[in-house]
Amino acid sequence: MSQLELNQIVLFCYDIFQRVHWLMHRSPDEILQVAGELKQILVSCRLCPRECGVDRTKGELGFCGASLLPSVSSIVMHFGEEPPLVGDRGAGTIFFAYCNLRCVFCQNHQISRGLVGKEILVSDLASEMIRLQNEGALNIEPVSPTHQVHAFIEALGLAIGNGLNLPVVYNCGGYESLEVIKLINGIVDIYLPDLKYAENDAASEYSSCPDYVEHARAAILEMYSQVGDLELDPDGSAVRGLIIRHLVLPNDASGTIDTLQWIKANLSTDVTVSLMSQYSPMYEAHKFDQLNTRISQDEYERVVDKCWELGFENVFIQNFESQDLGIPDFTDDEPFEWR
Ligand code: SF4
Repeated sequence: MSQLELNQIVLFCYDIFQRVHWLMHRSPDEILQVAGELKQILVSCRLCPRECGVDRTKGELGFCGASLLPSVSSIVMHFGEEPPLVGDRGAGTIFFAYCNLRCVFCQNHQISRGLVGKEILVSDLASEMIRLQNEGALNIEPVSPTHQVHAFIEALGLAIGNGLNLPVVYNCGGYESLEVIKLINGIVDIYLPDLKYAENDAASEYSSCPDYVEHARAAILEMYSQVGDLELDPDGSAVRGLIIRHLVLPNDASGTIDTLQWIKANLSTDVTVSLMSQYSPMYEAHKFDQLNTRISQDEYERVVDKCWELGFENVFIQNFESQDLGIPDFTDDEPFEWR
């Protein structure tokens, strides 16, 4: 068989896979129905495990500070994600303002604290998704959508009804409601959660989240059951699956090896893990002795070696120099110009 024939067979098989894959998706009407169910949850908000119980439909605010309408800080073509999420076209990212965590080292604190962001109508958000597709985005990637998942899903339903056909990458902090993750089954193609900590003491001190570990782990188990291991198309672009992100914190504040051992024991060593070295003490990190330093090359190499030793094969390793990249400025139209 010639190489040309082999390539044709691969492309044919991939075409069938794509068709079956899209048939498995929910229709726009079904997606809008899910958005309606999510809005019901807002009446006594339990969109995330904090379960504040405030009525966001009446303008009441909970821990995250987000109101009913989504506030968006930036909608851009982004090249700073893992390679299969950006290719040479870029991820179509939508950065939501506010957050349900309070990480003292947050590099996006301008937006996670709601200092930069503008309210947007759901119909306009849907139009923005179509614009990103028309400009060549590889996917649609909401960043920190947890507290605005109702609006994101509604906008997605409208956009899919108007021809959007890109994979959806759910980029979240990991502190997710199991009820919500179950509701969006069949809508999200790629889950990109953080798994920040292995110990709740650290989660409590550094992210104001004393029950992070059990909720993040339960959500990630559900995500994995929905989408499985990462799948790439013939161009190497991600089309489905799970990528777990883990930012290595100094002095083992993130419990990296415990987290890797948990993934191995409860999911699989086939899971794709993104081990990030880019930590730099910013925002309020200087107030905490354990966090007021960068990680050393030795610290990073130790956890990378452990990753191989445990049998993980699908691992994104970050260039150690990424610590020097600087931070995005969301007051700028191009927040990632430094990349
Ligand atoms: S999404 Fe916000 S208001 Fe709702 S439960 Fe979570 S922190 Fe509270």
